[in-house]
Amino acid sequence: MCGIFGYIGTKKDDDAATRVVAGLGRLSYRGYDSWGVAGVDSSGITVTKDVGVVPAQKPKTVGLFSVAVGHTRWATHGGVTKNNAHPHLASDGSFALAQNGIVENFLELRERLKKEFSFTTQTDTEVIVRLIEKKKQKTTDLHEAVRAAFMELEGRNTVIILAEDSTVIAARNGSPLVLGKSKSGNSYFSSDTLSFANEVETVLVVENGQMVVCEGQTVQLFDIASGDTVVPKFEALTVVAETADKAGYDHFMVKEIHDSADVLAQVAAQDPLAMKELAQAIDTARTVYTLGSGTAGIAAAQIAFYLRKYAKVNTISLVGAEAQSYFDLFGPGDLIIAPSQSGETADVLEVLELAQTKGVKIATYVNMSGSMMTRMADFPFMAGAGPEFCVMSTKVFTSQIAWGYLLAKTVAGEFTEGVAELEKTKHALRTYLADTKTEKSLKKLAKKLIPASSIFLLGKSQNLEMVKEGMVKMIEGSYKHAHGIAAGDLKHYAITLMEKGVPVIVAVSNDEARTDTISAGIEVQSRGATVIGIGQGKVDQFDAFVELPDTGETAALINVVALQLLAYYMTVLLGNNVDKPRNIAKSVTVK
Ligand code: GLU
Repeated sequence: MCGIFGYIGTKKDDDAATRVVAGLGRLSYRGYDSWGVAGVDSSGITVTKDVGVVPAQKPKTVGLFSVAVGHTRWATHGGVTKNNAHPHLASDGSFALAQNGIVENFLELRERLKKEFSFTTQTDTEVIVRLIEKKKQKTTDLHEAVRAAFMELEGRNTVIILAEDSTVIAARNGSPLVLGKSKSGNSYFSSDTLSFANEVETVLVVENGQMVVCEGQTVQLFDIASGDTVVPKFEALTVVAETADKAGYDHFMVKEIHDSADVLAQVAAQDPLAMKELAQAIDTARTVYTLGSGTAGIAAAQIAFYLRKYAKVNTISLVGAEAQSYFDLFGPGDLIIAPSQSGETADVLEVLELAQTKGVKIATYVNMSGSMMTRMADFPFMAGAGPEFCVMSTKVFTSQIAWGYLLAKTVAGEFTEGVAELEKTKHALRTYLADTKTEKSLKKLAKKLIPASSIFLLGKSQNLEMVKEGMVKMIEGSYKHAHGIAAGDLKHYAITLMEKGVPVIVAVSNDEARTDTISAGIEVQSRGATVIGIGQGKVDQFDAFVELPDTGETAALINVVALQLLAYYMTVLLGNNVDKPRNIAKSVTVK
C-alpha cells in the first residue's frame, strides 16, 4: 500500500520537508507503520525515518530543504523497523528511493546482486536501489539507469527517487502516481490527488509504464519501455480538497457512519440515463460478475444478490484474490461490476486488466476521484460519498450496496421506485441515527460483547452479507474473533461451538427469510447461546432484541449501519485505535 509524496520548491528557502510530512500525513490511510523523509542540499541527501505514524509536524531534526521526498509504509517485505523504513539510500549516498508495491522477483534479483553489493535491509525495495546502482555502472545518466532497472522489475511498482543534484524521478507501473503544479511552479508528487489538492492548480496523471524526471520547474515525461519522450498533459484540478473534520464527533468512524443518510441521498441522485445505460448492458450481457476485495468484496456480493433478487439476472460475485479460475471463462459479452472505495485495489485491478484484454466490459463504482479503475471503466460511476478518513470503511460500503439496489431496480424497469425506496430509507436512517436511544442500546450491547472471546453473527437472504460486514468491522476494530455465517448453514458445523453464554447476533427482517432465521436463533439458544436479535419485528423468544426501522426491501441498509455502530462502540470500549486499526490500510495497492 504505502504513500509516496515529493516536493520541488522554486525558492531556496521553501521548506519542502514540512510539505512532505504534511502530505504523508494525508496519505497515511495507505499505511502507517513507519515513515521517512529525504531532503537534499549542498551537503548531499539526508534521510530521517522512524517507526510509527507520520508525525503531525516536521520533526526538529529534519533540516530545511527546497526539495524532498517521503514515504509512509505498510510493510510487505521486512519487519516494521526504522532500518526497513523508506527512503533507502544508495551505497554512495547519491540518491534515495521510496517504493509503493512489491518486487515479485526480488529474491532472484537479490541473489544476483548480492555478489556485488551488500544488503542492509530486509526489504524488496533495497533490490531496486542496488539494481539502479548496478545500471549506473554503465551510464552516468541516473534516469537511464532507473529506466533500465525498472524494466527488470516484476510486480506492480511505483518509485520516487531523489538525486543528489536535486532532480526527482518517479516511475510508475501499477501503484498510482500523480504530479501537481502550483501557480508559482512548485511541483508535488503523490499517490493521490486529494493529498495536494489544496496547493496545486494543474495535475498530470502519470500512466503505467511512464516515468517523470523533474528538475526545478522542468518536467520531462518518458515511456519506460521505449525511452521515448511523451508530451505531458497537465489538466486543471477538479478535485476539491476536503479538510479532515470530525464535525464534533470523537472519531471519524462514527462521524462517517452518521453521514450514511446523506450518502443515500447521493445514490438516489445518480444520473438516471447512466444507470439505464448500464442496466441495458446488464440485460444484454453474456455473464454478469461483481468483483471486490474485503469490505468492497462483501458489497460486490450484496450487489449480486440484489441483481439476482430484483432484476432476475444470474450474477456471479468474485473476490479479487480468488478470481483466477474464471480467467479462462471471461470473454466478449461479459460484464464486471466492481465497487471500490479507492479504485486502486491491486488484486481487483489485476482481474480487471486481464478481463479487459479479453473483451469484458467494466462498470465501476468508486469513491476516490481520478482512480485507475474509474479511468479504465466503460461505465464509470462515482459514489460521491465524501472522503472517508477512518481506515474501516462504513459509509462507502452503505453507498455501494444502496447503488447496487438501485441498479437492480433499474434493470427491473423500476428506477423511480428504487429512488423512492432510497429516499424513504434515508429518512428512516436519519431519524434512527438522531435518536439518543440508538447510542444507548448499541453501547449496552457492545458492553455485553466485550468479555466474549468469539462472537457469532447469523443472517439469511438480504442480511447474510450484512452480518459478514458486521463481522469484518468487529474483527478490524475490536480485534476480536467474529464469525458471520449463513443462518441455515450453522447447523452443518458451527453449532458445535454453541455453549452457555456464547453471544450470537441474529439479523432478522420482515422478509421471506424471517421464519428460518428465527429458527436458527432458537436452535442455538437451546444449546446455551445468548441470542441477540437485531433488525425488524421484535422476536420475543430471543434474549435481547435491538429493534430497527422497517424499510422493507432496503432493510439490510439499516441493519448494516447498526452493526457498524455496534463494532464502533466495541472498539471504543476496548480502547483500540478506532480510525487507524493495527496492521491494515485503507487502500490495498499490493497483492
Ligand atoms: N514492499 C515495500 C515494503 O515492504 C513497499 C510496501 C508497499 O507498497 O505497501 O517496504
